[in-house]
Amino acid sequence: MKYLSTAGAAPAVDMAAALHAGLAPDGGLYVPAELPKIEVAGIDPDWSLHELAGHLLAPYATGSSLEGILPEICRRSLDVPLPLVEIEPGQTWLMELFHGPTAAFKDFGARFLAACLEHLRSPDEPDRTVLVATSGDTGAAVAAAFHRRPGFRVVILYPDGRVSPRQAHQLGAFGDNVHTFRVQGSFDDCQALAKQALIDPELAAQCRLTSANSISLGRLLPQISYFAWAALKLERQIDDGPVNVIVPTGNLGNALACVLAREMGLPIGEITLATNANRTLPEYFDGAPYRGRPGLETLANAMDVGDPSNFERLAWFYRDRDLRDSCLDAESVDDDAIRARILCGVERYGRVFCPHTACAMEIFERRREAGDARPYIIAATAHPAKFDNVVDPILGRRIEPPPALAELLERPSRAQPLDAGYADLRTRLAQQYE
Ligand SMILES: *Cc1c(COP(=O)(O)O)cnc(C)c1O
Repeated sequence: MKYLSTAGAAPAVDMAAALHAGLAPDGGLYVPAELPKIEVAGIDPDWSLHELAGHLLAPYATGSSLEGILPEICRRSLDVPLPLVEIEPGQTWLMELFHGPTAAFKDFGARFLAACLEHLRSPDEPDRTVLVATSGDTGAAVAAAFHRRPGFRVVILYPDGRVSPRQAHQLGAFGDNVHTFRVQGSFDDCQALAKQALIDPELAAQCRLTSANSISLGRLLPQISYFAWAALKLERQIDDGPVNVIVPTGNLGNALACVLAREMGLPIGEITLATNANRTLPEYFDGAPYRGRPGLETLANAMDVGDPSNFERLAWFYRDRDLRDSCLDAESVDDDAIRARILCGVERYGRVFCPHTACAMEIFERRREAGDARPYIIAATAHPAKFDNVVDPILGRRIEPPPALAELLERPSRAQPLDAGYADLRTRLAQQYE
C-alpha cells in the first residue's frame, strides 16, 4: 500500500514512513492511495476486536516493514474492552470507547501508534521524542501509551487553565519519560508550537521529533476497527439495517475512521457528525463553502475546533464525488442543550454522559422526536468523570472516576510552565539532549 499526500506534491511512501513523518513534506496529510475492499462474508462474526482489526488493517501495511506483524500489533494494542450498551431494545446502542487506561477513545489510536513505532525502532537507535499538543485527552492517551517504553520520550503541551482539573492532573501524573508543559496560551498556540518544532530542521534532527497529533495516520487507522466490529455484530441483530452512526466530532479523526469503514464495505448507513457550538462542519453540510476559523470554547472542550484538521482527508476521499451527497451529515449542539442532555440521560437511561457524548445523544433525541425510527450506534467518547467540573455541578453530585483514572489521580502531578513563544520550547527541548 502506498500513501499519497493530499497536497499532491510529495512522493508516495509506505505505511512505516507515513507513520514517522506525521505531515507529508509538501505540507499535506498522508492518505492511503486506495481503500481496501473487504469481503464481509469472509469475516468470522465471532472475531474479537483485535482479530478483526488484524484482518481489516493488514492491507494498509503491505510493502512496509509492518507487513506481517500487524495482527500482532493489533493483539497487543487493541486489547481495550469495548461494551455495546443497548439503550433501546433492538434499536440503539452506545458504543463505549472509554474503557482504556485514560478513559477516552484516544487510547485505541495512541496504543496502536506506540506499538507500531516501537516495532519500527532498531535497538541501537537514539531516543525519539513524541511531541504532542493537546486540548486534554490526546496528551494523556499518548503519554500512557509511551510511558516507560524504552527509546521514546513524550513532550506534552497543554493550554494552562483550559483543560479540566482532572485532565490537568492526569497529564502531569506520568513522570519518567513523559515531560509535561502547561503553556501560557490557547490550544491553537500549543498546536502552533508543536508545528513549528516539527518543521525546525535542526531541532527535529537533534531530538528526532515525531508527531502524535490527530493528523497521525497511526491514530486514524485503528479507529476503523471498532466501527467495523460494532456494525458487524449488530448486523445480525437488526432487521432494518444497516445501522446508522452518530460520532461526537472535533478534528474529525474518529468520524473519518467511521467513513473509511463504510467505504471499505462494512454495513454502516448514515453517519452524523455531532459538533458542539463550533459550526464549521454543520454550515458546510448545509451548503455553505468550507470556512475554517478559530475554535470557540464550549462545555465539550475536546471538540473546540473551528478548522478540523482531517477535513482535508475527508475531501480527498470524496474528490470525484459530491461530499454533501454522501450519506454524511453534521449538526451542532450548544452548551444549554449539552447540560439538558446530561440531566436527561440520567432520567431516561440511568446513564451519565460526558459532554461530548451528550452532543451525540442530543442529535439522536432530535431524530427520534422527528419520527426517525432507524437503528443507531452512538459513539460514547469519554468517561464522564474526566469532566467532573462540567458534569458534577449539572447533576449536583460527584461522579466516581473509573479505577485506571482514579489511580492516576492519586499520583503526584507536575507540569512546568512554558511561554507561548517558540524560543522557550526550543531551549527546553534542546536542553534535554545536552
Ligand atoms: C478528541 C475527542 C473528541 C473529538 O474527536 P475527533 O477525532 O477530534 O473528531 C470527542 N470526544 C472526546 C471525549 C475526545 O477526547
